[in-house]
Amino acid sequence: MGHPGAFLKPCEELLVLCDCNNFFVSCERLFRPDLEGRPVVVLSSNDGVIISRSNEAKALGIKMGEPYFRVRSFLERRGSAVFSCNFQLYEEISARVMEVFRRAVPSIEVYSVDEAFLEVPPAGRERPVEWGRELRAAVLKQTGIPVSIGVAPAKTAAKLAAERGKKRPETGGVFALLPGEAWDDLLGQVPVEDVWGIGRRWADFLRRRGVSTALRLRDTPDDWLEKHLGVRGLRTAWELRGIRCFPLEEAEKPQKSIQSSRSFASPVRSRESLAEAVTEFALVAGKRLRSQTSLAGSLAVSISTSRFRAPFYGASAEVPLETPTDSDITLIKAATGALASIYKEGRDYEKAAVCLGRLSSAEAVQLGLFGEKTNRGSALSRAADRLNEQAGRRLLLPAALLGEKEWRPRKDRHSGVRLEDLGTLPAIS
Ligand SMILES: [Mg+2]
Repeated sequence: MGHPGAFLKPCEELLVLCDCNNFFVSCERLFRPDLEGRPVVVLSSNDGVIISRSNEAKALGIKMGEPYFRVRSFLERRGSAVFSCNFQLYEEISARVMEVFRRAVPSIEVYSVDEAFLEVPPAGRERPVEWGRELRAAVLKQTGIPVSIGVAPAKTAAKLAAERGKKRPETGGVFALLPGEAWDDLLGQVPVEDVWGIGRRWADFLRRRGVSTALRLRDTPDDWLEKHLGVRGLRTAWELRGIRCFPLEEAEKPQKSIQSSRSFASPVRSRESLAEAVTEFALVAGKRLRSQTSLAGSLAVSISTSRFRAPFYGASAEVPLETPTDSDITLIKAATGALASIYKEGRDYEKAAVCLGRLSSAEAVQLGLFGEKTNRGSALSRAADRLNEQAGRRLLLPAALLGEKEWRPRKDRHSGVRLEDLGTLPAIS
């Protein structure tokens, strides 16, 4: 053991990081079991770049973030399946996976759409690897999604363990870094930039000083770490020694502002089309606002033409909302009003955004503490959310948004799977 501080305080508590494998691809495969064994990729919004790859696609050398047009014919020649992204579906499947986790453990931190940290329950601590295998099997059986599981006393170590579980099939997808065991072998093989929380800049700095692996980082003296990387860096090294420094954060942090923006599939000229797009963005932002039980105190709209074509035009306008609100009607009115103040005719707009700011808690509105008018708009919007949720798609939509729109992103490769198709999957028991 390289460092005197290592395992000074063996941790009795264990946590796991659960990471869904090739998540978006795995979601698409749920509805296309025939794609097992074939290369599959999922594209970003507007079919721009590759954002999820099956193992077969990784083996072909397809990189994350690769522009689709560059590998399109290569993929076609190899019989690959290509999908436009379907985030609504992925979010719904993510919620199912998280539900299985929630039923298995006392506390959970949903870290991203396809990752969560879980506290291992006391019964699992004596046989953590077997417990992890059982959890993995339960998730696979109930949701069809394969996950990798890393067991460790601390988050930073659990991340590395899960990565090892994913890369080595002989682990069965579960790998443990347990207190008192030798970690040097694994840590010695991990490049320092792959350690959770070590960004590009820190990695460059560390490498120049010979700290090129997770092992070296763990064994670097505390005072040096604190001087050069601060407390955050010091804690990262301690976590690699098996000492938990970053607690599980169970409460979801409400966002401070909510933005909905997009590049258009093709340039948009008319005021009407731009108003439609901005209306749609206001609706998307409004739904997110209500789902985190917040109210917006301001709304900003921005529009711009292409940066690569002169003359460039970009502008934004912010309007205060007199009474903080989560009502779609008020948000749409504010958004179209703000747009009118910055729209200039005869330009090819490429992008628009709606940003909700000065967020506050909506508890008061739900309790009916605001005036009648605010309340009605808010209640209407909430009712629409519920109906759309039950239907699995947007039933209630302003008439202006129906039909094909040039500003909607291209999704030539959409699988056609809709939220209501989730009903064909077995229920979580
Ligand atoms: Mg993943």
